[in-house]
Amino acid sequence: MFLITLKAQIHADPQTEAVLKDAMFCATKVYNGLLWHLRKEYKETGRVNVSRKNLNRILKELPRSKGYYSMSVQLTRDEVREAYKSFFALKRKGLAQHEAPGFRRKNYLSPLKYVQSGYKVEGDKVTLSLGTCREDGVKHVSFRISCRPDVDYERVRKLSIIYDKVSGRIEARLVVEVKARENEGMGRVAVDLGETILMACVFEDSSVILYPGRQIKAIRRYWQKVRANLKQNSRRWRQVAWREKKQVEHLLHIATSHFIAECVQRGVKEVAIGNLNGIRESIDYGDRLNQRLHAWPYRKLISMLKYKGALAGIIVRDDISEERTSITCHACGKVMLSNRRHRGLYACSCGWSAQADVNGALNIFERAYQVSPVKGSSGRVARPAVMSFLLGWHGVAEPKREGKPLRTSA
Ligand SMILES: [Zn+2]
Repeated sequence: MFLITLKAQIHADPQTEAVLKDAMFCATKVYNGLLWHLRKEYKETGRVNVSRKNLNRILKELPRSKGYYSMSVQLTRDEVREAYKSFFALKRKGLAQHEAPGFRRKNYLSPLKYVQSGYKVEGDKVTLSLGTCREDGVKHVSFRISCRPDVDYERVRKLSIIYDKVSGRIEARLVVEVKARENEGMGRVAVDLGETILMACVFEDSSVILYPGRQIKAIRRYWQKVRANLKQNSRRWRQVAWREKKQVEHLLHIATSHFIAECVQRGVKEVAIGNLNGIRESIDYGDRLNQRLHAWPYRKLISMLKYKGALAGIIVRDDISEERTSITCHACGKVMLSNRRHRGLYACSCGWSAQADVNGALNIFERAYQVSPVKGSSGRVARPAVMSFLLGWHGVAEPKREGKPLRTSA
């Protein structure tokens, strides 16, 4: 049993949508109202009391807290507590720039969160309680949702209605319980992550699939250039960052879905991925501060592999140390930096040569399972069959040097 988050589109009639937006607006009012009272309290007493008891007392004075479901109101209250807690933490470190957590803008639609109660999901129909005290007398709203059809979930644990600033639409997020599928497979596979080759996958029978990373690299470079000319964190900057994320995620979905389908077909039970330390070393963007940013597609890729794997009953491990796997000869074990030639081919004086990422993946395989797919009992090393794989990058064009931003078909 595990949890995954599903994005869902909301299909509601205009009237229902207006009520939902109004409830979300009430949540913003409640959020800001709590902040306002806390600021006032601080001015008067020099202290801020963010205990639930004190916040509940303030909630009673806020008329808009009757505009949506009472448990959701409590979750808004907890957002305020979290905001204050992280503010206090920053302040202790001397990092807080502002006097106190900031107000949400007037037109900001805050999320409506549901945990445990107040919501019902039957097929694609969702019913939400809005409490019993709304001025317009509306107690419930119902609408349809659509999300990816291939996830069979047992139960919806959490549901939130959120506003997507970029698309201007309200959407739903469902945290659902999924039962891991049974898997009869016994096979194992190791994956080396990289930039030029996104995933080098070595199966137990020594067959190899390479997923090129060229397109992702091109998309990221392109948007990085666009972003370089924009004010950081400005509206346009965030839009650009969002586009980049969508396009990269689209490609990651294609690659990971294909790989997991391939694993199912080949009877794979376990996937071992090298941890991300190697990625940070090998990608040189010349800016150490941004390393975290540069590593996100790989973190995203691993999380996709984990949940898609879990859906297919495949265990995905990412705890294998990648240290020196790229510079160690898989045949003789010699560690030599100069062996990694041209980023492409790994050639050792012992006679071994292989695509460098395949050599790395073989080392990860051996480290994870204490056995090598290519070293036979005679100690001979068979040359792996490298199957170069081209992805159908539907709807994605190579970025042009000048011209308009890329679009994905998604
Ligand atoms: Zn060697």
